Amino acid sequence: MFVNLGVRDFLDRAELVYGDRIAVVDEPDQPAASWGSLTYRELAARARGQAAALDALGVAAGGRVAIVSHNSARMLASFFGVSGWGRVLVPVNFRLSAAEVGYIVEHSGAEVLLVDPELRGLLDTVGANHTFVLGEDDDKIFGGTGEPRPWAGDEAATATLNYTSGTTARPKGVQLTHRNLWLNATVFGLHITAGDNDVLLHTLPMFHANGWGMPYVVTGLGGRHIVLRKIDGAEILRRIDEHGVTLLCAAPAVVNAALDAARTWAGAIPGRDRVRIVVAGAPPPTRTIERVRAELGWEFIQIYGLTETSPLLTVNRMRSEWAGLEPHEQARRLGRAGTPALGVQLTVGTDGEVLARSNHNLDGYWNNPEETARVQEGDWFHTGDGGVYTDGYLTISDRKKDVIISGGENVSSIEVEDAVSGHPAVREVAVIGIPDEKWGERVTALVVTDGGVSADELIAHCRERLAGYKCPKRVEFLDALPRTATGKVQKFKLREPYWQGRDRQIN
Ligand code: ATP
Repeated sequence: MFVNLGVRDFLDRAELVYGDRIAVVDEPDQPAASWGSLTYRELAARARGQAAALDALGVAAGGRVAIVSHNSARMLASFFGVSGWGRVLVPVNFRLSAAEVGYIVEHSGAEVLLVDPELRGLLDTVGANHTFVLGEDDDKIFGGTGEPRPWAGDEAATATLNYTSGTTARPKGVQLTHRNLWLNATVFGLHITAGDNDVLLHTLPMFHANGWGMPYVVTGLGGRHIVLRKIDGAEILRRIDEHGVTLLCAAPAVVNAALDAARTWAGAIPGRDRVRIVVAGAPPPTRTIERVRAELGWEFIQIYGLTETSPLLTVNRMRSEWAGLEPHEQARRLGRAGTPALGVQLTVGTDGEVLARSNHNLDGYWNNPEETARVQEGDWFHTGDGGVYTDGYLTISDRKKDVIISGGENVSSIEVEDAVSGHPAVREVAVIGIPDEKWGERVTALVVTDGGVSADELIAHCRERLAGYKCPKRVEFLDALPRTATGKVQKFKLREPYWQGRDRQIN
């Protein structure tokens, strides 16, 4: 007998087994009335109320429901209330402009648009058949009465449509199926040993790759969600303390915020020897990993993946996989993206691109057959990242578009960033290539420091660690680096003033 896997399985199980447990603690301080603490029974009731409300609006299975919101319990409920009864959730980045949100709402064909009260200005220009403000319109969005119309389930059906950040072209809608999300969440759960005692603090925006599957896996296992609306290092530490948090998922920039806050934190660091922090989205510098282990005492788990892969591809679980390894072997594995997750096949193509196969790779890009065919050529998913895959461990050398070509040599910006960030005065760094008559591109480091280092000192620091051609030829000091809502450095913005319309040669 075949059973269709679906995202509702996670909530159904939680309601059945852990109905009276606290499922979620909503952000107390927000523009809408906080939902406070909800049990799994109450969370499931809100999800059912949402499905029934969508029935009443006439949104059929396969209909799209877009949501633009900071992290909230309402958003968590929507992961189930929308996709759980066959509709497609379109989680939209809350940092986008009205024009960008408008493009996604139109391109996805969203019939319903749910907006955070703080972002209500979007509704001046962005519309859908039905628009609602979260919180104010709760009765209309979550208050449907009676049992929702049953949905037979289909694991090959699209559950979410996630738009890429679109730094190089128009954003693309990544179609993820119920099977994709189910497998990603359960495999993720295995690798991070998620369990019913886990308390997850949402330090990752939920819109981003569906919170990496945490809304599903933590629910299915009966753990607890703690909502965090705005990222702030001291607040992260405070909530870890208050709620007995055991698990965080974050981009490297958030890790830095926690490390900074820890410097002035009075008393013992909360969660020492208890918290696991899962980090991805950008390469974490080796020094950051070492500092997390030494200064916070949290286990650092690096993962690598993309929205298109649901996202899990590799895991570097330093505690369990490294047990018994010699210190030099441990050091060799420290900064690497990790080993393939269960069910993931990896290889590196002849041009150095990382290729992946798994049953949680995307179904395709919505309404974009050319791009779908391009990234799935040869029956492998093309990640757009360069990598080295040896001893079962993958190292990401660079995004293909960020590789610097200097004097005919490829320079990995990630490798240079790792060297620069090893200097204790460096807080943030991005390495880019700028046009150069002689070398094609000149390696340039843009840094945010605490003031205690000169350009010459930083270049000398790199010379001790890197081959000469990889060392920055120029260092510029900035107050901050431009970042996306998920903490990625926007290198295209940094390159703009130097390139001004000139084309870069990309591998
Ligand atoms: P777009 O492709 O439109 O620019 P994006 O960069 O936001 O969107 P995501 O799917 O969010 O796309 O991010 C995936 C990328 O993040 C990967 O291709 C890789 O370059 C980078 N990344 C993720 N995890 C790691 C890691 N552990 N080490 C190095 N890079 C990583």
